[in-house]
Amino acid sequence: MARKTLATPTQAPLLLGATLLLFIVIAGALFLNLMRLRDSFSWVQHTNDVLLAIAGIQRAVLEAETNERGYLLTGLESYSENYLHAREALGSRIDSLRALVGDNRSHVARVDELRQFVDMRTAQLGRVIELGPEHMREALEILEQARTDRLTERVETSLTALTRVEQALLTERMLQHDRESLAAALITACLLILAVASAAIAAFLLEHQRATARQQEADQRLQSLQAELMRVARLSTMGEMSSALAHELNQPLGAITNYVQGSRRLVEASSHPDKAKIGAALDKAAQQTLRAGAVIQRLRDFVGRGETDKTIESLRAIAEDALALASVVSRDRPVDIILALDPASDRVLVDKVQVQQVFLNLIRNAFEAMRDEPERRLKISSRATAGGMVEVMVADTGPGLDAQIAERMFQPFATTKPDGMGIGLSISQTIIQSHGGSISVSTPPEGGTVFGFTLPSAEVEPHLPSAVAVRAS
Ligand code: ADP
Repeated sequence: MARKTLATPTQAPLLLGATLLLFIVIAGALFLNLMRLRDSFSWVQHTNDVLLAIAGIQRAVLEAETNERGYLLTGLESYSENYLHAREALGSRIDSLRALVGDNRSHVARVDELRQFVDMRTAQLGRVIELGPEHMREALEILEQARTDRLTERVETSLTALTRVEQALLTERMLQHDRESLAAALITACLLILAVASAAIAAFLLEHQRATARQQEADQRLQSLQAELMRVARLSTMGEMSSALAHELNQPLGAITNYVQGSRRLVEASSHPDKAKIGAALDKAAQQTLRAGAVIQRLRDFVGRGETDKTIESLRAIAEDALALASVVSRDRPVDIILALDPASDRVLVDKVQVQQVFLNLIRNAFEAMRDEPERRLKISSRATAGGMVEVMVADTGPGLDAQIAERMFQPFATTKPDGMGIGLSISQTIIQSHGGSISVSTPPEGGTVFGFTLPSAEVEPHLPSAVAVRAS
C-alpha cells in the first residue's frame, strides 16, 4: 500500500542539516551584533565621561573664583588654601579631559584653547590672592581688568561649546545603541524561534520515522500471516475437496462393481463362444474398480488423519491476528468489535495457523453477512467448559441463517453466495474435530448468528511448558 510521507529518511537529515546551518548563521549574526552593541555602549560611556570631566572643570573654575573673593573679603587663610586646591584640580582635570578627547583633533584644539583661557584667568586670580586684603586697591584693579578681558566668560563659552558638541554626540550614540539593542533582541528572538522550530521538526521527523517503521513492521507481519494462512487454506481446501470427491466417487464405483459382477454372472450362464475371454475382461474390470476404491479409501484416510502441529497458544493473540487480517475486507463497512475472551482460559493447545483459519473463516462470513445491515457488531467471547475444553463464541448481528442451507452448512460445497465455494465451514469443522473439539451454529431470538466451537484448554495442565511443540495425529 502506498503511503504518503512528509520526508523520506534521506530527506530528514538534510532538513535538519539546513536548519542547523541557518542556526549557525543567525548565531554568528547575533555574535557580531553583540560586539557592536558592546562598542556602542562603550562610546556612550566615553561621552558621559567627557561630559563629567567638563562639568568638573566648570565646578573647579567656580570654586577658584569663589575662594579668591572670599580671601579678598575676609583675609582668611582657608580661602587661599582652597583656592590653591581648586587651581591644582583645574590643571589635572583639563589634562584628563585632553586625554579623553585625544582621538578627536578639533576637540583637542578646543581643550587647548580652554586651557589658555583658564591659565590666564588663574594667573589673574593668583595675583589677587598674592596681594590679599592688605592691597585691596591693586587687587580691585586686577579684578576690574579681568572683567574687561572677559576671561571667565570665555572659559564658560568654551566649556559650553564643548558640552553642546558632546551632548549631540551622546544623543547620536544612544540612538545607535538603541538600534543595536533592538536588532540584538530581534535576532535573539529569531534564534529562539528557530531553536524551538528545529527541535519540533526533529521530534516530528523522529516520531514520523518511528511510526513508519512500526507500520511497515505491522504490514510485513500481516503479509506473512496472510501468506501462511493462504497456504493452509489451499491445503485444507484441497484436502476437503478430495475427501468430498472420494465420498461422491465411492457410490458410482460400488455400482460399477455390482454391474460388472452381474454381467460376469450373465456371461457365465450364456453360451457365447467368447464367454471365457469376456469373463476374464470383466474380472479385470472388477479388479480395477476395487483398486480405484482402495486408492480413494487411502486418500480419505490420509485427509482424515489431519496431521497438526500443536503448541500452547494464547487464544486472544490468535483472535486478534485473525481480526487484523479480516479487517482488510471490512474497511469500507466498519464493524464494532467486542472481544470478551475469558483471560482465565486463554491458553489453548492448538495448531495456531489452523485455528487462525477457523477464526478467519467465521469472522469473514460474519462480516459478509452483515454487509448490508444498519447495525454491524461482532462479539467474540470464550469460557471454560467441562472436560478441559474452552468454548469460543463468534456472534454477529447479520440476517441469520438461510433456511435452505441451515441443515447442511458444514457439508462441502454448501453455499448461498454467487461466488462462494462452500468450503470454509467444512474446513473449519475438520480442523476443530482434529483438535478433539466440535463446532455448531445457532440463531438466537434477538437475531444474528452465533457459531460456537471448542478447543482443548492448556490451563488445566499448568506443568506444560509454553510453546512446546506436541505432535498429534
Ligand atoms: P462460503 O462462505 O464460500 O459460502 P462457507 O462454508 O464459509 O462457504 O459458508 C457456507 C454458507 O453458510 C454461506 O454461503 C452462508 O450462506 C452460510 N453462512 C456462513 N456464515 C454465516 C453467517 N455468519 N451468517 C449467515 N449465514 C452464514
